Amino acid sequence: MATKTKVVNLAKMSRLFQLIETSGSLDREKAEITSKSYKLMVNYGIITPVSIGMYALLPLGMRILNKLINLVDKEMANIGAEKILLPALTPVALWKKTKRYDSNKTELFMLKDRHQKEYILSPTHEEAICNLVSSIGRISTKSLPLRLYQISSKWRDEMKPRHGFLRSREFIMKDLYTFDTNLDNAQHTYDLVCESYNNIFKQIGIKYTKSIGDMGTIGGLLSHEYHYMSDIGEDMILQCPSCHFSINQVISKATNCPECKNELRQHTAAEVGHTFLLDTKYSQPLQAMFMEQNKLKPMVMGCFGLGLSRIMTLALEILSVNNEIRWPIKLAPYTVCIIPPKAGSKEESTSIYVEHLFEILRKRDIDAILDDRTHHTIGKRLLFARATGYPYIIVIGKAATQSVPLFEIHDVNNSTCRELSLEQMNDYFDNIDFKN
Ligand SMILES: [Zn+2]
Repeated sequence: MATKTKVVNLAKMSRLFQLIETSGSLDREKAEITSKSYKLMVNYGIITPVSIGMYALLPLGMRILNKLINLVDKEMANIGAEKILLPALTPVALWKKTKRYDSNKTELFMLKDRHQKEYILSPTHEEAICNLVSSIGRISTKSLPLRLYQISSKWRDEMKPRHGFLRSREFIMKDLYTFDTNLDNAQHTYDLVCESYNNIFKQIGIKYTKSIGDMGTIGGLLSHEYHYMSDIGEDMILQCPSCHFSINQVISKATNCPECKNELRQHTAAEVGHTFLLDTKYSQPLQAMFMEQNKLKPMVMGCFGLGLSRIMTLALEILSVNNEIRWPIKLAPYTVCIIPPKAGSKEESTSIYVEHLFEILRKRDIDAILDDRTHHTIGKRLLFARATGYPYIIVIGKAATQSVPLFEIHDVNNSTCRELSLEQMNDYFDNIDFKN
């Protein structure tokens, strides 16, 4: 007979590897604190600098990234994209075939193996994916479109790394590469991916813009950029105040909207996504071909980047207030923080309700952490939970000693606080959409 065992999986703050920076002992060379988000991320143990322009994601940071990855994975699955993982190293020989090596050299991390063969730590994988696709043998029209993506670390030897993950030398990106039979089909794929990007950004819930983009060194026929408006961004976009028109200033000298003639406004913005309709720029030289009516033709490509470590950074930069972190609900490291009474206090016996409260959340798949550092007062832990950016905080305080025990629920993003019974708490969490 199997016996029912209670699963003990409460996350506890006393066990959290958080590396809180309060001493000011941060290595200044590694970490020049230049933005609100960077300071908060370091101070509250989301990330920590390990070398110039390179950061470790700590457990809370990793949870945020994983939530973002889940959200992206679901949207990629919806457009039939399959997930792969390419090696971080790409042979320099491949980059020479597409003539990208010489124009990018200064920003590439390079190394040689024991046989003196040269590699780059890839900032992007157009060459590597074409090489992969061309190596799998004959591709017929039946196997197209092909949509392959990965989520991995990318490298760029930035001249001036700054603002933490906003301009870091190692960063985390989702890159999708698509292969179609002709330009019309590739355009259809392109539109489909743009739609899935809209879905991703809508779920994150921060206002974003889509602008006609700068092709830069990637090239192609058509490009769009996704931006968050932020002073720490490095792009200038020109936007029409009355219609949807928006363009990166780098590629436009226009002062009036070409669609409705209104005067364009300039905004500082940070790029978080970039889409390219590449045509055959990479597939031709790298022989990523398919067979149509007994003829080999280069596949028509698209590539689509999403800066995941940037999205995390900017979400925090945009939402945080008064030295307190705020996360979009779907990205918060834990959705709920539960604060039990102080050890030795009159209310201490009410800590039995921790298990009831966790059960309410567990049933709804809502993740929560317990601040079990009960040697601290409730007030101190409440301030800390708010500053770390947990969107909901449940306090087990004095009101929990009443005949019908009540618990404080703080909705941090909306600055409200209510006292609810356990039963009401059930209803409360039924009425909020937390999940990806
Ligand atoms: Zn307009």
